[in-house]
Amino acid sequence: MTLLGIPIDALSMDEAVTSIHRLLTQHRQHQIVTPNSEMLVEASKNSAFRSVLQRSSLNFADGAGLLLMARFTGQKLAHRVTGTDTLQLLCKNLGPEYPVFLLGAAPGIAERAAQELRARNPRLKIAGTFAGSPDDSDSADIVARINAADPALLFVAFGAPRQEMWIAKHLSSFTSVRVAMGIGGAFDFIAGVQKRAPSLLRSMGLEWLWRVIREPKRIGRIWNAVVVFPLLVLRHGKEAPRSL
Ligand code: UDP
Repeated sequence: MTLLGIPIDALSMDEAVTSIHRLLTQHRQHQIVTPNSEMLVEASKNSAFRSVLQRSSLNFADGAGLLLMARFTGQKLAHRVTGTDTLQLLCKNLGPEYPVFLLGAAPGIAERAAQELRARNPRLKIAGTFAGSPDDSDSADIVARINAADPALLFVAFGAPRQEMWIAKHLSSFTSVRVAMGIGGAFDFIAGVQKRAPSLLRSMGLEWLWRVIREPKRIGRIWNAVVVFPLLVLRHGKEAPRSL
C-alpha cells in the first residue's frame, strides 16, 4: 500500500521483526524507515527525503495517523510499528552473531540505552555506542568508528529526516552493516530520560497529544501531523485512484 506516493509495509510488530531477521541473512545492505505523519508531510515537499523513502527496503507505519488515512483511502493497515518497540522486540531474539551499534542522541544516552538493552537481553552483543552528530564534518570519524566496531545492525537517533538522509548517504561506506534504521527518540525512551505516553493513550492513537503537552515546541510538527497530513491525503486521493 502507499500513502502520498510512499510505499508502506503493512506488517504487525512480529512480522516487522521477522522481516529484519530475513534482511540480516542477505548480503545486500538495507535501510529501514519508520515513517510517521510528519515525515510523510516532509517527504511531500522534500524530494531528496521522498526518494530515500521510496528506495528503502522496508517502511514501517509509525503513527495512528497513517492507520486512519489508510482506512480513509480504502487500504488496509492494521498495526503501528514504532522504532522503539521494534528495537526492543528485535533485541529479544538477537544473538551475538548480529552485533548492534547505537549512534546518536545526547552524549551518554546511547550508552545508557545499551546498558538497559544488555541487561534485558543477555545474548545481545552491543558493538558500540556514540553520540556523534549528523554534521558532515563528523561523518568520516563516525564511519571509521562504526567500521572498527564491526556491527551488523546500526540504529541512528538524529531525529527525522536527518537520520534517514544520513543513513542513505553513508550506508555504502559501512563494511559490516547490513541493516540500518533511523530510530528517533528510542534511546531516550529506553534509557528512561523521556517518558513514553501511557499505553491507554497510545492505544487510542493519542501519543502525539502526550508529546505536545510534554514538549510544546513540537506544536509545528503536530500541526503537520494532525492537520496538514490528512489534508494532503485528501488532495492526493482526489488526484490519484484509490488503488494507488
Ligand atoms: N538528536 C541528535 N542530534 C541531532 C538531533 C537530534 O542526537 O542533531 C537526537 C535527540 O537527542 C533524540 C533523537 O535525536 O535522541 C530524536 O530526536 P526527536 O525526538 O526530535 O526525533 P523524533 O523521534 O521526534 O523524530
